[in-house]
Amino acid sequence: MQHDLILKGARVVDPSQNHDGICDVAFADGRVSGFGRDLPAGPGTQVRDMAGAIVTPGLIDLHTHVYWGGTSLGIDADDFCRTSGVTTSVDTGSAGPGNFAGFRSHVIERSQARILAYLHVSFAGIFGFSKTIMVGESEDPRLMAPREAVEVAEANRDVIVGIKVRVGRHASGDQGTAPLDIALQVAEETGLPLMAHIDEPPPSYEQVLAMLRPGDVLTHAFRPFPNSPVTAQGAVKPALREARARGVLFDIGHGKGSFAFRTARAMLAGGFLPDTISSDVHQLCIEGPAFDQVTTMSKMLCLGMSLTDVVAASTVNAAVALKRMEYGTLKVGALGDATVLAVRDGAFDYVDTRGETLTGAQRITAEGVVLKGRWWHPA
Ligand SMILES: [Zn+2]
Repeated sequence: MQHDLILKGARVVDPSQNHDGICDVAFADGRVSGFGRDLPAGPGTQVRDMAGAIVTPGLIDLHTHVYWGGTSLGIDADDFCRTSGVTTSVDTGSAGPGNFAGFRSHVIERSQARILAYLHVSFAGIFGFSKTIMVGESEDPRLMAPREAVEVAEANRDVIVGIKVRVGRHASGDQGTAPLDIALQVAEETGLPLMAHIDEPPPSYEQVLAMLRPGDVLTHAFRPFPNSPVTAQGAVKPALREARARGVLFDIGHGKGSFAFRTARAMLAGGFLPDTISSDVHQLCIEGPAFDQVTTMSKMLCLGMSLTDVVAASTVNAAVALKRMEYGTLKVGALGDATVLAVRDGAFDYVDTRGETLTGAQRITAEGVVLKGRWWHPA
């Protein structure tokens, strides 16, 4: 087998294979073609010396907004992914059935980065989200479009991985769990998982959790009060353990208002790690406090998660949520995506969405990206 590219001698951290050690990873024809020590290079093989670097499966950011130009909150997927080590950007509900065709044709099909999408159940997705205009797309029941959402999801099965709904005072006004109920019907009808956003009540964190099914994702899971997952005494609320036991997944979804160090500390102290780490990067948080996926991963590392757990939460665990196991792994035959990371030691300042600053001893940086079997990072 002639490899196109070999990443040589890195510390390869691939939780999907319980692997953490020095080896080579090779790519050919857009796939992983080799994994092991001293992989042989042919005459046409590009070899990159990765001594001292960490190589992981291509990072998946499970919560992003990349419908650039079509929605006010969208950022450019390729600009973001290429420099921040993300190979798969999962857009969560930027588009609804009324404007998904534009997202597909103008963004998904023209981007180099892999883009998958949760389709919003609200007709035009998240249409009114900016510094000056903020209108919740789940506020008006006239916009709920279950029939149209089923049609669009069925017609775009290759890129639509789930159904999205936002509930909470800011996203759904006084509608309570009604939009979630409609989104669940679409999820049932299509056989797709649901991702639910929560913000401030109503509805309550527990009300939303009680409605989620095995494989559904709760995003903004480590949010601050109100609708925090921990009690005033800092204990993880029992409803979370019940939901996890039946298979509900918990996603970070940092964003501009949905992640607090105080909550995260209590969750980790209670042994409740997130299933997935995601940035929820969009126009209003890309310049802070979320910045990107590696910054969000760095925060969890500094709060006490192990590097292996942080990488798992950005690779194989996200693949489980997507139900696409060829993502998030460096097994031979998998998608040819990898990320090169460094973990730097020092004193680094991080800020959460409540303005609390944390000085951490480590920072994860993106040093390289392989996408579809080719070196893609600018460096
Ligand atoms: Zn979001």
